[in-house]
Amino acid sequence: MPLLYFWRWDHYLRDLRYGVGYHLNQKAKKLHAIEIGESLWAFTRRPSDGAYVLVAELVAKAKTINHPRLAREYRYGRHRLWGDLTQSRYFLAEGQAPVEQVIRALSFDVRTASLGRSFQGPGGVRTITMADHAMLAQVASLLEAEPRAKLIPEDRFEALALAGDHDEVRRLLADDAPGLSQERLEYLYGPAINRTRSWTRTLREMYQDRCQLCGWSSLGQYRAEVCEAHHLHWLSRGGPDDLENVMLLCPNHHRVVHRVDAVFDFSDHSFVLPGERRQGLREPGHLVG
Ligand SMILES: [Zn+2]
Ligand SMILES: [Zn+2]
Repeated sequence: MPLLYFWRWDHYLRDLRYGVGYHLNQKAKKLHAIEIGESLWAFTRRPSDGAYVLVAELVAKAKTINHPRLAREYRYGRHRLWGDLTQSRYFLAEGQAPVEQVIRALSFDVRTASLGRSFQGPGGVRTITMADHAMLAQVASLLEAEPRAKLIPEDRFEALALAGDHDEVRRLLADDAPGLSQERLEYLYGPAINRTRSWTRTLREMYQDRCQLCGWSSLGQYRAEVCEAHHLHWLSRGGPDDLENVMLLCPNHHRVVHRVDAVFDFSDHSFVLPGERRQGLREPGHLVG
């Protein structure tokens, strides 16, 4: 079933300023009622004039469960829905014609005078019909893309961070991060680089440089450590800087995980691969909550 979600404006804005996430977290299990390939539509209330506008269509790529500690501390809720990066879209809120009449015409009842209020609490996510989805798709076909919803190449960011190259990180973000807040940029220029290097040292020691996915290590034969820290929830997409959000991967697995945007599911400690296949970790280790 496709879904409709009311995104609080401040949460939506935070996502844009911290690195657009292409995912959504909810306590409600209903978030996982969506099938892979179906759309979750998000709308918000624009504060400048109080109008309701469409802000995103996430085309479901994977449904996962968050790490229990992160779910608790960040109040994310347990359930996460990941949008496909090539098909999902964010829409420009400013200048958009209000969509309240369209949403009120969909097949569910809105019992309160305030549309936003009827989506509060457990009603934050609603299932909609395919006909509802078609109506929203029609509206969205006329909308402009949000220019701040731009992906930063996280694999390049991580490689530069691991090398400790602050200047190149600064250049990369200047070119590729049009919407990030100054605060987030300052964090990515500096502390994030040092923390990435420090997590890499910690994880190499913890796993004797073995890849958590395949167990490969270059330490014995080559006497060199080349496994790398990978952020499960990308830093450039707003991911937290916690041990529960990093793992150790060999360079091959690190590369392919980024290439296919493999997301991680804490329910069974596996990566979700294309075609809804999964690959479990050989050493889940510190990721087991
Ligand atoms: Zn590996
Ligand atoms: Zn990575």
